[in-house]
Amino acid sequence: MKVGVLALQGAFARHVQVLGELGLAVVEVRAVHELSDVDALVLPGGESTTMSMLLDSSGLRNAVADRLFAGMPALGTCAGMILLATHVADARPDQRSFGAIDIDLRRNGYGRQVDSFEADLSVSGFEGTFPGVFIRAPVVDRVGEGVEVLATADGHPVLCRQGAVMVASFHPEMSGDRRIHEEFLDLAFTILADE
Ligand code: GLN
Repeated sequence: MKVGVLALQGAFARHVQVLGELGLAVVEVRAVHELSDVDALVLPGGESTTMSMLLDSSGLRNAVADRLFAGMPALGTCAGMILLATHVADARPDQRSFGAIDIDLRRNGYGRQVDSFEADLSVSGFEGTFPGVFIRAPVVDRVGEGVEVLATADGHPVLCRQGAVMVASFHPEMSGDRRIHEEFLDLAFTILADE
């Protein structure tokens, strides 16, 4: 399995590193031909407004949307979660999301006071807690019926899955704990094996 990491902007390098350490062939995706080469895609944290613009200018917008629609496994973290959501509040009107997972969220929903923080998360299926690193994270306000909530913080979902799509409002690539990447890779392997 080849995993792509969307590398238009933001915190992609650590995802590339973690996936490499887990023994995966990793492709940095900046152009349509690089996307064609991968079986699954990680959308990293960063600035979703900028990433949204770069998705348009690179021509990747439709290519990514088509692959997601066709069931490509995807992991979105923070800004990547925003890009995969159905509805985004507090976004510029020209910012567009893929609607690949049925959740509504608010960009920078934690506000300036608690801008960035760490929280030990109980993740469904994990033994012991997972160190959640939150950086200007989105707040999830609604999850659809088909969405499985795998972890919450302060009553808000922070790790969710629907079909082949997993999203985290925190940065698992920065915690030194690889279990969320491993969980995503297991999911991707299972889905790709069924195709
Ligand atoms: N708040 C940022 C956005 O709107 C996301 C922050 C992050 O990815 N760490 O894109």
